[in-house]
Amino acid sequence: MNIITFDIEDWYNCNFENPNFDWDKYEVRIYEGVERILQELAERELKATFFCLGWIAEKHPDVIRRIHKQGHHVGCHSYRHELAFRLDRDGFRQDTEKAKKLIEDLIGESINAFRAPGFSITERNVWALEILVELGFEYDCSFFPATHDYGGFSSFGKVEPAMLKLANGVEIKEFPINNKHILTKNFVFSGGGFFRFYPYWLIKYWARSSPYMMTYFHCRDFDPGQPMIESLSLIRKFKSYVGLSTSFVKFQKLLNDFDFVSVDNANKLIDWDNTRVLQL
Ligand SMILES: [Zn+2]
Repeated sequence: MNIITFDIEDWYNCNFENPNFDWDKYEVRIYEGVERILQELAERELKATFFCLGWIAEKHPDVIRRIHKQGHHVGCHSYRHELAFRLDRDGFRQDTEKAKKLIEDLIGESINAFRAPGFSITERNVWALEILVELGFEYDCSFFPATHDYGGFSSFGKVEPAMLKLANGVEIKEFPINNKHILTKNFVFSGGGFFRFYPYWLIKYWARSSPYMMTYFHCRDFDPGQPMIESLSLIRKFKSYVGLSTSFVKFQKLLNDFDFVSVDNANKLIDWDNTRVLQL
């Protein structure tokens, strides 16, 4: 099962090192970025899941309307792209609720899927899942089962969808990012900087031998013309801008070589009664 997802945020919305929410002053590139992706999906009659930032829904509603009009599955990627574990329960609830409402009001239907910025639901803040269930989310796609700069849930075990059961009995379906386990290390290859970094032949090889693949792309992953965020550290700059000139061609090849479904459609294909339950 291969799932295709996008996190809809602009190039300036992601700076966990020096958070600066004065976003209105930056050059807007999200319209062209989304359009380019939508075209590739339409050509192949693919439906994807788009985790949209509430701030984008507020400031650039046409982007979200356009995605929804094309029949894609729309999810939530928080309001202001803050790491979930930097917020307390109330802060997380307020931010998520605000984003959910903005997006739902735009598309005229309720949304059921969530992905935290930077995969920031970890062993330390599983309480966030409880709030997601309270707010009406059915699926979470925030788990990154490997070490990660910001998130990471290395105790997740086998990378495939699982039912998460919280201490108070509340359940939510988890669709984690996948990885390739080689010797003692887990290699993520299905999105972001990892997808841009590895050569396509290796990504294809790993993807072929993965029964479950969860991709995650951003418009900025395919935009060599984006301005550079100067305040990022050297290592973060490398991770943010490596492979930009070839990534869109790699993306097109991936779409040609594999079949993909949205999270919503993947959910229908899974036999949840016989799926692993992970007690948290
Ligand atoms: Zn993001």
